[in-house]
Amino acid sequence: MSAAVLQSEEAISAEAGHAERVEQTLTQGFPALFFPPALEAHFLSHAESARRRVITEAGVAAVVLFATMVMADVLLTPDTVRFALWMRLAVFAPVVLVGLVVLNAVRIPWLTEWLIVLAGMFAVSLTALILLQSQGRWAIARLVEINIIVVYTCTLARFWPALALCAFTFVVQLGLASTLPDFTGVLALNTTLLLLAIIVFTLYGNYTLERDERLAYLLAQREQALQDALQMSHEQLARMARTDALTEVANRRHAEDFLSQSWAHAQQRQSSMALVMIDIDHFKRYNDHHGHLSGDRCLQAVARALSACSRRAGDLVARLGGEEFVLIMSDIDHASALAVAQRIQASVQALAWPHAGSPGLPVVTVSVGVASMRPRPGSDAMQLLKRADDALYAAKAQGRNRVCEMDGHGVIRCAPPLGEDAA
Ligand code: GH3
Ligand code: MG
Ligand code: MG
Repeated sequence: MSAAVLQSEEAISAEAGHAERVEQTLTQGFPALFFPPALEAHFLSHAESARRRVITEAGVAAVVLFATMVMADVLLTPDTVRFALWMRLAVFAPVVLVGLVVLNAVRIPWLTEWLIVLAGMFAVSLTALILLQSQGRWAIARLVEINIIVVYTCTLARFWPALALCAFTFVVQLGLASTLPDFTGVLALNTTLLLLAIIVFTLYGNYTLERDERLAYLLAQREQALQDALQMSHEQLARMARTDALTEVANRRHAEDFLSQSWAHAQQRQSSMALVMIDIDHFKRYNDHHGHLSGDRCLQAVARALSACSRRAGDLVARLGGEEFVLIMSDIDHASALAVAQRIQASVQALAWPHAGSPGLPVVTVSVGVASMRPRPGSDAMQLLKRADDALYAAKAQGRNRVCEMDGHGVIRCAPPLGEDAA
């Protein structure tokens, strides 16, 4: 089996495996927002480039937003402005920007997802540090900034990383509640409840968004698999409709279509076409001596030999029916077509396929008729077919196992038989 065939079979079975995993996952559901590993990897890499673009834009926006929060530092906690400026411009901005460069360089889907929440955790931590620097009583009011960071990050992150961010933020907030000055119990309870409510709502939204995104992905994959299967069976049917089942060369119908197309093309380009007709000699006797099955194998071997003689892209080998074949050639002069016909005759004889019933050589031989024409306006491809057929008829009439040609003037010339005494 050729490497290309093996490769395409591998591709087909990989596709079938993927389609099966998609169906299974659709049936079983995915409440934990996680697919089986192979499908999960495909899902993440499928969405990766779009995610990376959105996250890069959102990351740059986050750097700008975090920097503009310095206005809150100036208005509410002026005693921290110097420290806050450092944290916002000299720590957060470069770290996040470097993170974005790394994310775009390595392109690892799961890392992309976790880098988002790492940036969120970083923003929460720096905000907490800034607030802890302040002795002012408005520091408490700025806890709302942490909520903004949670909402902003959760709209971007997938559910599980978002949950990790929320848990982290909740712990940080509890820490701040017990540390910031002027933090009364009621206020602590109030801000903690506010954060909890925000966490519940954003995580719920986050969960449904990701669930819908995953469902849309699975349905799109199912649709794609159906389309691929349809396309494949369509191509398979089209291939079968134009192929001879026994010999796997083109069948009569395809040969006729191909001939009229090539004829029209040659008419346009004013180029010459040739047709070689091949008929196995005494094939009825072959069947009688060797059996029908062996006859089928012989037909296959002859078809292979013919195909090997026609290597040009514009050539077509077809089985017209029974033990009769044709080779259609475009852009070829008469002398070259005759040379191909002689090569065909020699190749079949070189198979040395035993033919015990032959009255001539004890091997399978063929009679060949060749004709060439330059199509004139209003002419018909059937004229070329008729000429090659007449030449083949002459080859049979003159004793078989030979090549006869019909030239442009309708004159037939035959070569002596191959390997027999030209008595
Ligand atoms: P000639 O040299 O004049 O061409 O004689 P021939 O016996 O080859 O020609 P004829 O037309 O008398 O017989 C053709 C034979 O080909 C008859 C038929 O049994 C055989 N044949 C046709 N199709 C098939 C096929 O698909 N398989 C096999 N094994 N034999 C076939
Ligand atoms: Mg025959
Ligand atoms: Mg025949």
